[in-house]
Amino acid sequence: MTQESQREKLKQLFAKRVTTQARVVLDIYQKCRSNSWEEPTRVFSLTDAAEKLDRFAERFDMPQQRDAAHKVVSLLKSLTPEQPPNDKQQESLEKIIQELNECTLRKTDSKPNEVSQTTSSPRTFLRTPIYLALNNSDYANRIINQLEFFGFRSLNFNSTQDLILASKQDRPETIVADIDFDGGNFSGIEAVRQIQECYDFTIPIIYVSDRRDDIEARLMASRTGGEEFFYRAVDPGQLIEKIENYTHSNTQDPYRILVVDDSKAQAKYIENILNKAGMIPGVITDPMKILVSLHDFQPEIIIMDMYMPGCTGMELARVIRQQDKFHSVPIIYLSAEDDVNKQLHAMSLGGDDFLTKPIDPKHLIATLQNRGRRARSLLALMIRDSLTGLFNHTHTLYLLDLEINKSKQSEQPLSFAMLDIDYFKKVNDNYGHPIGDRVLKSLSLFLKQRLRKTDHIGRYGGEEFAIVLPNTTERDAKTILNEIRDRFSELPQPAGDTTFNVTFSCGIAMSSSENSQSLCEKADQALYDAKRNGRNTVRCYNIDM
Ligand code: GH3
Ligand code: MG
Ligand code: MG
Repeated sequence: MTQESQREKLKQLFAKRVTTQARVVLDIYQKCRSNSWEEPTRVFSLTDAAEKLDRFAERFDMPQQRDAAHKVVSLLKSLTPEQPPNDKQQESLEKIIQELNECTLRKTDSKPNEVSQTTSSPRTFLRTPIYLALNNSDYANRIINQLEFFGFRSLNFNSTQDLILASKQDRPETIVADIDFDGGNFSGIEAVRQIQECYDFTIPIIYVSDRRDDIEARLMASRTGGEEFFYRAVDPGQLIEKIENYTHSNTQDPYRILVVDDSKAQAKYIENILNKAGMIPGVITDPMKILVSLHDFQPEIIIMDMYMPGCTGMELARVIRQQDKFHSVPIIYLSAEDDVNKQLHAMSLGGDDFLTKPIDPKHLIATLQNRGRRARSLLALMIRDSLTGLFNHTHTLYLLDLEINKSKQSEQPLSFAMLDIDYFKKVNDNYGHPIGDRVLKSLSLFLKQRLRKTDHIGRYGGEEFAIVLPNTTERDAKTILNEIRDRFSELPQPAGDTTFNVTFSCGIAMSSSENSQSLCEKADQALYDAKRNGRNTVRCYNIDM
């Protein structure tokens, strides 16, 4: 290699590091914003990431990125901790982020296969993509089209080479692949295997197979991260549902993990691993602060050092278990202790798992994901509806009561919306109950994707949904729901080879110092007014009636 070409190659490599770091900044920013800046730790990690970008861009001579990073850092540093940016600051941040986004766009972002974003769909430019590696491009396009309605960015590839290249550049959330993509018997699986080697955390894969359904094929698929294996053409609707399952960061809140370790270095190390995996870390190095931290941070899982000054991890676990609310929070011990007897003893005192140092990041994350999933599914049994995953009737009303109290205290408006699908009985009659169920799921996913994280969405009854919108006036709620209503009515609902459309009616009421019951009644009246006025419309109790 000549000196010149070597230098060129190095330059490309450096440019990639800057771009990757810029992506990290964009990603964390997105998360901060979707959480309404309510997480101080996130804001700190954003500052961290932007500082790093600033350094990289300076070192590798990329002035645009450096300038943007610089602006982000100085803006964030001007904030006091725990104080979210005000509207003006958010506006300036948004502008800088746009600049950064523009100078960070990748070639793969403008592939011809990608369906362009319409202005009314949610802002998805920072979201990681979903890659399709499907031989049948008509089928792939149908899926891309559907995904776009739900705000997912997806691309189909023409060759394993392109797929591998793009996946290495931009880690996809999931890949939907034909096992024999691009010709060879198992060429799709082989391409995925090469992609997985580049990453610490396995990308969940959805495999589709037209010809083979034998144990050999299934084993190979599963060994390369295959979470699903569909034999023979699968209905796009079913596929979208699975894709939704594996794109956690879009629809699921990240796990909140409390790290208790007296060693600052060890705590920082774990904090980094958690951040990288998209989880929310909270760290305390003084075990005596545990009570405050439990209350303020509300962890879903606790990682605990075994030996600390003042008390042991086991003692601390018992104190945690004394409180009803944290009775079932998983506790994972982390220690250099490799005496199995002592480990067992520690587990008997209220621990759930035992990991030894030095900890392998992959192992730690896998353990946390397992524990977190189980903890959440236990909780979900109590508060969620099993078909849609939305809050159930009882919990929705509980959240409504909670938010009414909050809005009274803060003197902020609060709106409550009730949705009912139009002529849903006909959907069941014409296409069957399973397709009806899928429509319910598609509406629930649609709402989840388009509403804010701070809104609470519930399944109120059969084909009725309820939404609690804090800090929202009736007028604003009407605008938001009208837009959702409009877009949902355009969504093609797949049924075998054909598609059909579904609409809903909506009634909204704004709280004015009443209780939840009367607010529900008002929203219900508005909903029935919407039904009487021809359906597929939004009516407000105070504005329209
Ligand atoms: P309208 O526009 O007046 O709301 O008419 P509609 O047909 O939607 O209302 P109706 O209350 O007459 O019918 C609701 C239908 O919803 C009847 C019921 O079978 C169906 N349904 C309720 N829960 C479920 C469910 O979980 N899955 C499916 N597939 N259908 C359901
Ligand atoms: Mg109905
Ligand atoms: Mg109904």
